[in-house]
Formats: sequence, structure tokens, C-alpha cells
Amino acid sequence: MKTYKIAVLKGDGIGPEIVEQALRVLDKISELYGVRFEYEEGLIGGEAIDKTGTPLPDETLELCKRSDAILLGAVGGPKWDDLPTDKRPEKGLLRIRKELDLYANLRPAKVWEPLISSSPLREEVVRGTDMLVVRELTSGIYYGEPRGIFEEGGKRYALNTMKYDEDEIRRVVRKAFEIARKRRKKLTSVDKANVLEVSALWRQVVEEERENFPDVELEHLYVDNCAMQLVRRPSSFDVIVTGNIFGDILSDEAGVVVGSLGMLPSASVGDRYALYEPVHGSAPDIAGKGIANPIATILSAGMMLKYSFGMDSAHDLIEKAVERTLEEGYRTPDIWSEGTKRVGTKEMTDRIIYNMERLRDETP
Ligand code: NAD
Repeated sequence: MKTYKIAVLKGDGIGPEIVEQALRVLDKISELYGVRFEYEEGLIGGEAIDKTGTPLPDETLELCKRSDAILLGAVGGPKWDDLPTDKRPEKGLLRIRKELDLYANLRPAKVWEPLISSSPLREEVVRGTDMLVVRELTSGIYYGEPRGIFEEGGKRYALNTMKYDEDEIRRVVRKAFEIARKRRKKLTSVDKANVLEVSALWRQVVEEERENFPDVELEHLYVDNCAMQLVRRPSSFDVIVTGNIFGDILSDEAGVVVGSLGMLPSASVGDRYALYEPVHGSAPDIAGKGIANPIATILSAGMMLKYSFGMDSAHDLIEKAVERTLEEGYRTPDIWSEGTKRVGTKEMTDRIIYNMERLRDETP
């Protein structure tokens, strides 16, 4: 039987509760599709600080390196807020991305018809939106050197450097083309090529790669225009690819356009390793109450099936089961509205698993 080894990093706050539910969903996939998942847990974030003094112990990194994929909950909480920046739980996340060279961050933003009213946009504008933002994650202005705050002639000045080499651009652009090819075959590359040299190179490389993907329709948008079009015509986007800082901003904008934080999954992938995690944080305000929305984490596990294991139909089954469960009116408190059934973390997952079984029977 095909066996996949998954590193499980539950993290802090609601992390353990929601990851537990995603593992139940993976167990059901294992049963329905005849594959085996082996889970091994590692420490990360605040819990790792408490037990080992560092937010990303070497053992965790080793575990990740010998696994086929990584599933992460969330890290952080008030208990560790006063630590110096380089000792905080979030530092563990930055380090894992860098160490594993996870250069492409994938953030799907899909509107779920039963939750369409939670979008801040009018229903007719947002209906049908199903896009994916591919953000370059390990280079660009967040990492460029030189950087710092300096003083010259009695006056302070600050400096950051936006820098990409063509290989860094090419690998993430290629990834985005490949993903677009498996979706609706439309790619929007976002830059600021009218002002920035980095963007001019970005655009050149995108044009060079376009030759290898003649079946994918390509458009270029300036980042300011893209920010506007995301709220004017969100449903017209399929895959968006962009650099680190633009992607940081646009992926959050895309998330807000489609609604709730508890529904947004993500993946950070490189050539060898891939990490899957919900977009939201550790929600310490509701940790341990059994009311956290597990869907973002369940959908992140679904992305793992598609992008790491090539199990596209298992991924689709999870999405369909989530959609059906929402149609039936099941809601955790964060997405609850009048007239729907309020349920907790486990009950929501129970129903999703139940629907996976039913829908698997219905679809050959
Ligand atoms: P947050 O995403 O944890 O929470 C924001 C709000 O959304 C809270 O009211 C929370 O209860 C709610 N929420 C989030 N996820 C939810 C879910 N699945 N179900 C129901 N409600 C949910 O952001 P924050 O409050 O700014 O940060 C809390 C901690 O998480 C901080 O320590 C922060 O640094 C950390 N954080 C971690 C990550 C990560 O691990 N990737 C990301 C963002 C924030």
C-alpha cells in the first residue's frame, strides 16, 4: 500500500484542536482511497520554547526533512509576546520556510456559496470567485541586503533592498504556470514594471516562461491596478503570481474578499518540501473551548493531497464535503448566522467526514 509520512506540528492555541480534526479527515481519505498516512509529531512555536528553549528545535527540522509533507496548526500566544523578536514562536515559522526553501506560498481564495453573505462585497460581484495567489516567499524586499536604519550628517535614514535574481523569479513563475495549467488556465502576473527595475526583470522572465506554457492565457497587471480589480471583478481571476511584498498584501486582500479567516487554507512549497497550514493564527481567545473552525486546516490537508501526493480527486472530495456541510447549515460560531446550526470543532468535522463517505458513494 502506498504510504506517506506526514510531519505533524500542532503548535499553540487552537493548533492542536484543529490539526487533530484534519488528521481524522486524512484517516477517512486513507480508508476511502487505500493509501496509508504515517504521522509523526514535532514541536514548534511556544510549546517548543517552553520545552527546549527554541521555537524550532533541530529535531523538528530533521523530522520535516525526512517526511513527505508537513501539516502545521498555528503558533504564538500572549504567554510568549514579551520575548525578544528572535526568540518568539513566529521565528520558528520564518526559519522553517527558509531552511526548507519553501519559495512559493499558495493561497486559494474561494467563495463558498452558502457563506456568500459574509463577503464585504455585493453578492453579484463576488459570486463564483475561485482564485489562487502564488506569492514568492523567500526573497525580495523582506530579505534583501543591505538593510537597516542608519545615520548620516545628524539625520537618520532607513534602507531596504528589493532584489531578485532570474532563477528566483523563474522557479516561482514556473510553479504558478503549472498550477494554472491544472486549473482554468489563466495566469495574472503582478508587478510594478512602470517604476521598478526588479519588476522589469520579473516581467521579462514571465514572458520567457510563457513560451513553455502556450496553453495558459497570461496577463500582466500593475500591482495598484490589481488591488482595484480584486474588489471590482474578483471572479475573473484564476491564478495570480507575484513577488513577496505584493503577494503579502494581495493574498490578504483576496482572503477578505471571499470572507472568513477560519476558512482559508495555504501551502508553502519548494522543490523538495511542502508545508500546509491554515492562514489564521493560534486564536488564543478561543483555545481549548472546542469551538474553533477546523475547516481552514482541513482544506490545508486537502491541498497536501493535491500538491504533494497528486491525489486530486481526494482533494476535490474534501472540498465537496465541506461545501455540502455548509449547505446543510452547519456552522462553527465564527461563521454562524441566524437560522443556521451552531456546532463545535468536532461536530463540524464529524459532519464533513459523514459527507465525504456519502459523496464518495455518489461519485464513481
Ligand atoms: P488569529 O488569526 O489567531 O485570530 C484573529 C481572530 O480570528 C480571533 O478573534 C480568533 O478567535 C479568530 N479566529 C482565528 N482562527 C479561527 C478559527 N479557526 N476559528 C474561529 N475563529 C478563529 O490572529 P491574532 O489574534 O492576531 O494572533 C493570535 C496569535 O497567533 C498571535 O500570537 C500571533 O502572532 C499568532 N499568529 C500565528 C500565525 C501562524 O501560526 N501562521 C498567523 C497569524 C498570527
